[in-house]
Amino acid sequence: MPVPYNRDPRYDILFEPVKIGPVTTKNRFYQVPHCNGLGYARPKSLAAMRGMKAEGGWGAICTEEVEIHPSSEISPYIEGRLWDQNDIPAHRLMTDAVHEHGALAGVELVHNGFHAPNRTSRLPPMAPSAMPVDAYDPVHARAMDLTDIRNLRKWYRTAAINARDAGYDIVYVYAGHCMTTLMHFMLSRFNHRSDQYGGSLENRVRLTREILEDVKDAVGDRCGIAFRFAVDELLGKEGMTSDGEAQDVVGMLAEIPDLWDVNISGWSQDSSTARFEPIEGYQEKYTAFVKSMTTKPVVGVGRFTSADAMVSQIKRGVLDLIGAARPSIADPFLPNKISEGRTDEIRECIGCNICVSGDNLCVPIRCTQNPTMGEEWRRKWHPEKIAPKVSEDAVLIVGSGPSGLECALQLANRGYQVTLAEAGIELGGRSIKESKLPGLASYARVRDYRTNLLQQKSNVEIYLDSKLDEAAILEFGFEHIFLATGSHWRKDGTGRYHHKSISGLDTIPTLTPDDLMSGQAPKGHVVIFDDDHYYMGGVLAEKLIADGNSVSLVTPAVKASAWTEYTLEQERIQAKLINLGIEIITSQAVTAVKGNKLELSCTYTGKIEAITADALVLVTARNANDGLYQILKKSPEKLEAAGIKTLEVIGDAYSPGSLASAVYYGHLAARCFEGESWDAALFEGERPGMIG
Ligand code: ADP
Ligand code: SF4
Repeated sequence: MPVPYNRDPRYDILFEPVKIGPVTTKNRFYQVPHCNGLGYARPKSLAAMRGMKAEGGWGAICTEEVEIHPSSEISPYIEGRLWDQNDIPAHRLMTDAVHEHGALAGVELVHNGFHAPNRTSRLPPMAPSAMPVDAYDPVHARAMDLTDIRNLRKWYRTAAINARDAGYDIVYVYAGHCMTTLMHFMLSRFNHRSDQYGGSLENRVRLTREILEDVKDAVGDRCGIAFRFAVDELLGKEGMTSDGEAQDVVGMLAEIPDLWDVNISGWSQDSSTARFEPIEGYQEKYTAFVKSMTTKPVVGVGRFTSADAMVSQIKRGVLDLIGAARPSIADPFLPNKISEGRTDEIRECIGCNICVSGDNLCVPIRCTQNPTMGEEWRRKWHPEKIAPKVSEDAVLIVGSGPSGLECALQLANRGYQVTLAEAGIELGGRSIKESKLPGLASYARVRDYRTNLLQQKSNVEIYLDSKLDEAAILEFGFEHIFLATGSHWRKDGTGRYHHKSISGLDTIPTLTPDDLMSGQAPKGHVVIFDDDHYYMGGVLAEKLIADGNSVSLVTPAVKASAWTEYTLEQERIQAKLINLGIEIITSQAVTAVKGNKLELSCTYTGKIEAITADALVLVTARNANDGLYQILKKSPEKLEAAGIKTLEVIGDAYSPGSLASAVYYGHLAARCFEGESWDAALFEGERPGMIG
């Protein structure tokens, strides 16, 4: 294949083929398995999403975990299923989409052991030894006898044959997280057996070895056999360790699989957010040893977005293939951009795990950086293509937060003449303000990716320090106005818990996140009332304690930053806050203030107690900054006289939400501008429950 003209020769190594048993990837870009909330329920959406990554240059594209049998189903979560041949046609959609662009398709076959409560199939879960399932369901897994073990081997073999017949090139045996029967057998804390499958490590690895050999025997002539293995659980001696048993496991199985896919466990460590693992390549210290113990290729992850970091992994002999889930979600075209010398156009993952929240909430995947993720089939969105303009009209966008920037970029991509006005002296809105808070530096990437491209466009003009009012907007003569003026945090305590103001707030210094982000600094004992439940309350607690205050975080929820459970962060946040000495007061709401006395009410009993504070920070709810919109909307005759044809409010100014939703609505507005309606595509969605 000719080398693209602009590719930096330093990156040529990333485009070398790698042999995986009987198949060969065209390059070293390897999309490792990742969940997505599409799974068995939305096969067309899934195929389009995976196919897009193949189009974007990834050499291998894998499924999420794919259940091999109804005794391993984790409903309501929506993963893949290959229970029998009836599932093959759905998988064919994906393998065809991937093959169309010359990539290999991989399938991660799984049996989930006591991680599967089998809520739908109602089959008793299975485990090496009898124990409750790991969810709080009142269900126990029974100890597998030798017949169960024989059955499991048979199911794996059958699933591998079905996978091959569905067109997969790489077939996984999966022990990559503590959620799989094979890993459960390997770990002495779960495996208390006294037969040939328990006791010594060799015995505990026996089932994995047998299944690897079975799968290889069944399909190894046509498919590469990958083994996904978590080399460290970060539990010390209690678990698998990369300087202990993991080395013996790799030693025992070294040459059996055709590919080692290595990571760390649990999932929250493996898919760590940037708040807890800010540096790419964060798994290297655990996984690096594997390559020295096998001649087979090794793939691993580490939120790689920089071509230099990837090259370094290969050259230093850490990895053979650059594994990526989130970087491929944020930018399905990352390999092509490196190949074509467009590295500055890479949409870098910010490590926020909004993508993971889709899977955890059993809804289709979404991404903060890539608003087209999950919309490839439903809305027919392509991350790199957009319909051209349909008129010569000029557009003014007011506000340069995530929503305004995304709208401006996409309208500019369509070819419209775009003017972007920002009141502040820097672009980025909340993405920039929040990026200065502890652990959120990567949020600046939301701005950086967009401003870099906007600044290169000849059809875009950007004005900073330009707060626009009604008169200015009417005077300018743009035909179309988008108001992306953002939102602000409420200062009255209204939110989920309170539907009216907290009394007595004028008797204590009361601040909002906006106040703290703009440099106001309370002193002494600061109480945060967090009725928002996402990251802001916890992040501000970290900031305030770092500033030398003592801090209490009061929340009506049963834990700190409760929603971050869906981004795999909650436990780490709670641990961090505790370790920093922040007092966490759960199931309580601040209900009234009298000077430095705060009245707290128990959310269960209503019992009142008092605590003292020098200042109160309210993280409760946000109000849209839609004042300008309301004024302009009130006088359609003035808009008409000014030649304004359309006026839209977008992003947080329309409805406050996450960074991801601000970007999404900016994107949606640009796609729909002078075109389709916002909701048209939603009625085209896959409806698996419907006949016909
Ligand atoms: P979103 O998340 O919806 O993109 P942000 O709050 O991040 O919203 O950004 C809104 C941006 O709009 C801020 O940078 C703010 O300075 C800017 N802005 C608000 N009102 C005006 C205005 N009248 N004129 C120009 N810029 C404005
Ligand atoms: Fe990265 Fe966040 Fe997108 Fe996930 S949602 S891929 S973590 S930017």
